Amino acid sequence: MVDTLLTAHPYVKVALNVPLRATFDYKVPKALAYRHELRPGMRVKVPFGNGDRQAIGLVIETVAQSDYPDAQIKPLTALLDDSPIIDRELFELCVWASRYYHHPLGEVFFHALPTSLRKGESADFRSETWWFVTEEGAATDLETLNRAKLQKAFLKAAQEHATHGLSPHLISVLDVNSSATKALEKKGLIRSEQRAFKRARETHAHQKQVPPTLNNEQAAATKALLAMKDEFGVALLDGITGSGKTEVFLRVIEALLAEDKQILVMVPEIGLTPQTLRRFEGRFNTDIVLMHSNMTDRERLDAWLMVEKGDAKIIIGTRSSVFIPTLDLGLIIIDEEHDASYKQHEGFRYHARDLAIKRAQGLNIPVLLASATPSYESLTNALQKRYHWLKLRQRAGNAELPEMERIDLRGQTLKQGFSEHTLERMKQTLEKKEQVLVFLNRRGYAPTLMCHQCGWIASCDHCDANLTVHKRANKLHCHHCDSHKALLHTCPDCQSDELFTVGEGTEQVEGILNQLFKNTPILRIDRDSTQRKSALTQITQKIHEHDQAILVGTQMLAKGHHFPNVTLVVIMDADVGLFSSDFRGMERTAQLITQVAGRAGRASKRGHVLLQTYHPEHPAIECLCTQGYEAFAMDGLRERQQLALPPFQYQAIVRAESAQEQQAMGVLMQLRNQLSVTLPDDMQIIGPYTAIIVRKAGQHRALLCLKGTQRGPLHQCVAFAAQWLEQNTKNQRIRFAIDVDPLET
Ligand code: ADP
Ligand code: ZN
Ligand code: ZN
Repeated sequence: MVDTLLTAHPYVKVALNVPLRATFDYKVPKALAYRHELRPGMRVKVPFGNGDRQAIGLVIETVAQSDYPDAQIKPLTALLDDSPIIDRELFELCVWASRYYHHPLGEVFFHALPTSLRKGESADFRSETWWFVTEEGAATDLETLNRAKLQKAFLKAAQEHATHGLSPHLISVLDVNSSATKALEKKGLIRSEQRAFKRARETHAHQKQVPPTLNNEQAAATKALLAMKDEFGVALLDGITGSGKTEVFLRVIEALLAEDKQILVMVPEIGLTPQTLRRFEGRFNTDIVLMHSNMTDRERLDAWLMVEKGDAKIIIGTRSSVFIPTLDLGLIIIDEEHDASYKQHEGFRYHARDLAIKRAQGLNIPVLLASATPSYESLTNALQKRYHWLKLRQRAGNAELPEMERIDLRGQTLKQGFSEHTLERMKQTLEKKEQVLVFLNRRGYAPTLMCHQCGWIASCDHCDANLTVHKRANKLHCHHCDSHKALLHTCPDCQSDELFTVGEGTEQVEGILNQLFKNTPILRIDRDSTQRKSALTQITQKIHEHDQAILVGTQMLAKGHHFPNVTLVVIMDADVGLFSSDFRGMERTAQLITQVAGRAGRASKRGHVLLQTYHPEHPAIECLCTQGYEAFAMDGLRERQQLALPPFQYQAIVRAESAQEQQAMGVLMQLRNQLSVTLPDDMQIIGPYTAIIVRKAGQHRALLCLKGTQRGPLHQCVAFAAQWLEQNTKNQRIRFAIDVDPLET
């Protein structure tokens, strides 16, 4: 036995998956210290809490001294990894994120890990048994096994696959019975080998496509990006819908693959991963790994390992893939960078775009943000020359931008939400064997159920919100807390059976369209119709199969999809969001309308967009229709600057929730008083005020907004608030959360 200590320090600081802003000290058992070097990023098992409860933790550092008396410190139970599962770079990113978002370090680390690793499973590929024919087996005449049919069949297969061997996958494909392996192995005719099971997807059989010739703008953007490839820098690829942004990525990725680098491509929605995947597979002969929430724990771990060990070169993932460990990352691409789903809206409230930029800085590699409707934050950075601003203003190939037309709804008789003119245009489009896309950002049948006799409205028992009618599921559903109950047919207050619905959702519009356009396939895309795992892929496939069809859906339709035969887009209600109380309402509306409109005319046929509105002269609608998103955003940014709103000012929101009505408000009021004592000059406090939906899932919600023009003082105030709340809400039933750079107010 070696008698030098591999871990010299007697104590270890461990981060646990608990909502506490602290690390925990443990003793390193001597026996372990002689055999292993404890390094940051390794997992350990430790006693935690009462009884013999054990928890999984992550080593932060080993230390010579602890602040606690030695007798109080428990020894750690076991070391789970031989080497760190989070390398230095990712470790530093998590530490930074914990500080920046004022979120407990342990929770940040555990968020970064796949579920199976959080539970303590081994960070290794599964192994599987492969079979190989031996020399003797290869020389054996199969006829000698005529009386053992199964052995004969297996040996035959093993002889035929002598070079590469028989994997479990191949054995199942060949349909040979492996029950004969024992007997064959005993006779020395075959031998086995344990191999790591790497779940690379099986098909690379896609025919490789010949890349199109880039147009001038695309070529210039590609050249600029290639010039950036060896060091940190951010580029904003600001290209109108259909301008060929993806084609630009593909060229840059190709160059990096040639240098054997890995590339992380982030997309906002799971729904976009199969589509992106297909396009990438059509181009590259390399392992591509997907990373999103609709995968089993095992699939996620396999993907994670493939990337960590460098077996996969391209990673396509949603928000949390920003934490994937990489071997040699060369570029991060964030597609649809304006999309709000990059921000996590609960628990650890990070913004994956901002973290990706931080990560790229740490790795000294470039980041590419792409969008047809860049966020005001990114536009500001581009205007201030912190980002390289690469513009694509023409549609790729022969496609042209669609024409935007406002349909004045004032004084018109609507037929189930559609104007006569809209219906006429839809009919004409379908007659030309083209497709129509109808956009309505409200799912379900109707947003309200009401009683004709007494005016009762169906509302959620747990939230201050109305219940949405879902006719097909026969349910009333709360879109805020997800609770539901059976659809009512009599009024609970007056027993009248005259209940009626107010307003329309996509489910109702689907029904209306089925009646109005009897022989046309109507395809609905929203969260309800795409719940099953492959539903979205099936629906999009159907869209590509039919010539004429009407697609109806919510914002899911707006995200990056390519439907070449859609030539008419109908926006049923362009006014939603025009009068929102959130200062981001306009930005979001403009992005949504522009993105939905962008689905029209993406191939050789010109597209048209009809915006149904009661406010055709509203400056925002007017500007968007006549001048486009960039002009709209420049106006919007000037206004934000005048009003001292983000991105010209920084914000953080402290959120508190309590079951008791006044408790959350009360505690934030106290916090406000505390903060006011030493408030830096530049800082302002707004509130506390109640959330727009005051009660959600039985919790009363209050907010306190901190703002200022400099990040330093803001972070000081937030750090104070987090600490104060942790200490002062200990014995009360109050939950609080810190939201730095909030997107929701
Ligand atoms: P974006 O990502 O900007 O919406 P895409 O990259 O999806 O645009 O391109 C839109 C369509 O135009 C796709 O079908 C793509 O294959 C095609 N395309 C892209 N670049 C070119 C080009 N230079 N020449 C011809 N077609 C192109
Ligand atoms: Zn009633
Ligand atoms: Zn509810």
